[in-house]
Amino acid sequence: MVSIIRRPFGVEQRPDDRFRQVTFTVFNTRLHEKEPFETIEEGLVRMYNCGPTVYNRQHIGNYRSFLFADTLRRWLEYLGYDVRQVMNITDVGHLLDDADEGEDKIEAQARREKLDPKAISEAYTAKFLEDIGALGFLPAMVYPRATDHIPEMLDIIDGLLEKGYAYQVDGNVYYDVTKFARYGELSGNRVEDLEAGARVEVRDDKRHAADFALWKEDPLHIMKWKTHLGEHGFPGWHIECSAMARKHLGDRIDVHTGGEDNIFPHHECEIAQSEAFTGETFARYWMHAKFLQVDGGKMAKSLGNVYTLDDVSERGFSMRALRYCLIRGHYRQPLNFTWEILESSAAALSKLDDLVARLRRAAGEQRESTDTERAALDRMRAGFEEGMNDDLNVPEAVAALFKYRGDIEKDGVGREAASAALAFLERANGVLGVLELESEDLSTDVEAQIEARESARTAKDWAEADRIRDELLALGIVLEDTPDGVLWKRAR
Ligand code: AMP
Ligand code: ZN
Repeated sequence: MVSIIRRPFGVEQRPDDRFRQVTFTVFNTRLHEKEPFETIEEGLVRMYNCGPTVYNRQHIGNYRSFLFADTLRRWLEYLGYDVRQVMNITDVGHLLDDADEGEDKIEAQARREKLDPKAISEAYTAKFLEDIGALGFLPAMVYPRATDHIPEMLDIIDGLLEKGYAYQVDGNVYYDVTKFARYGELSGNRVEDLEAGARVEVRDDKRHAADFALWKEDPLHIMKWKTHLGEHGFPGWHIECSAMARKHLGDRIDVHTGGEDNIFPHHECEIAQSEAFTGETFARYWMHAKFLQVDGGKMAKSLGNVYTLDDVSERGFSMRALRYCLIRGHYRQPLNFTWEILESSAAALSKLDDLVARLRRAAGEQRESTDTERAALDRMRAGFEEGMNDDLNVPEAVAALFKYRGDIEKDGVGREAASAALAFLERANGVLGVLELESEDLSTDVEAQIEARESARTAKDWAEADRIRDELLALGIVLEDTPDGVLWKRAR
């Protein structure tokens, strides 16, 4: 058997300016509608993704949101942009209720596991990085930790105090939402309604019920900092992302992403902090992925209905099948997770594998391509690009690949069109990251196979010799018998 070491997913990107002329439109949560994508700086995208809170193993729902960010980055690179991608690691200050109440999620877990909070956040950060590697994520430029950015947070807090957007009560610093006229614009919440206390706990020391903490004083908090604000303080969750985005990407960024639950209060508060502080529009596009659900409800650790990557592997599914399952729906449609859906994703993926194998075989044969075949290829490319350009409509984009598979089943495919289709699929896979197209270090295996074929031929076992040749062909390796011996080359 030929054992091939395959590169997990994805391939090198080759920017192609031709596609820049096609308009990429995205749904901007802030405008509540789709609009054309334009960058602040020509050719460069500054993108911030709200990352994991590292208090436990992330579940596949979390990865749906992160894979949406990875797909967006890959599509932008396909379009020829340079993408500066930052995904933060929240390792302090994210309280149990997502607002200002409850225990710090990491400290609560530290107590449960009888460990230091730092040990908890380090262990789960390592797990997260391992998981995203297994799922074939392209690495972000940086994964900044909140605890490494306390001075940057204090700078913003001081500025907000100075400008009158924030106020101090003992060691606590609160943001006064009534001072920021655009508060509520992103989520559609109105301060008056929030004031009524619908979603926000009323705290005695806040001026308004909707005000949120930038910095909290709590001698019992384990991770705490002695600063000019107080003796035992720690940051609010929202200020962390404002500070990390500013540090790594600057005052104005192009895209900010998260899951749908990040819209309020997290992103609403980030906008209030960053924009009041800099006087600039913080992020041009706010994009949010809808939840992965189970039985029509949210998949959440607190509900006990979560699956991790290990659960998926234990059921015998590959990580690329999971990746495909999590990206193949539109990111703005909720996705209801079932094992059957994962099963059908694995089956669909094997059809795409089969398409690749067919094309490899055809690329090694001599038949010339026809105009019909070239037209089918153009349709696939156009369909894929139109889908992705329409607010990352992955289902539509992928449908173009399946349509092409149907076309060549019907009409066949000649050598040149097959090679061109393989080259296109390599680019498309730079976006999808689910196909196994590239093989590395083939030579040793191929050489061994050629030797086996030669032995079979010497023994006049033509069936075996042909079987080996076909097996190699299926992998895109073409053998050529020359007076100097057998040469091999890639079919493309
Ligand atoms: P957390 O670790 O709780 O801060 O969550 C990390 C990211 O996962 C956030 O962007 C959440 O919006 C997102 N998220 C949490 N649960 C789900 C879910 N069931 N489906 C999709 N995204 C989720
Ligand atoms: Zn964030």
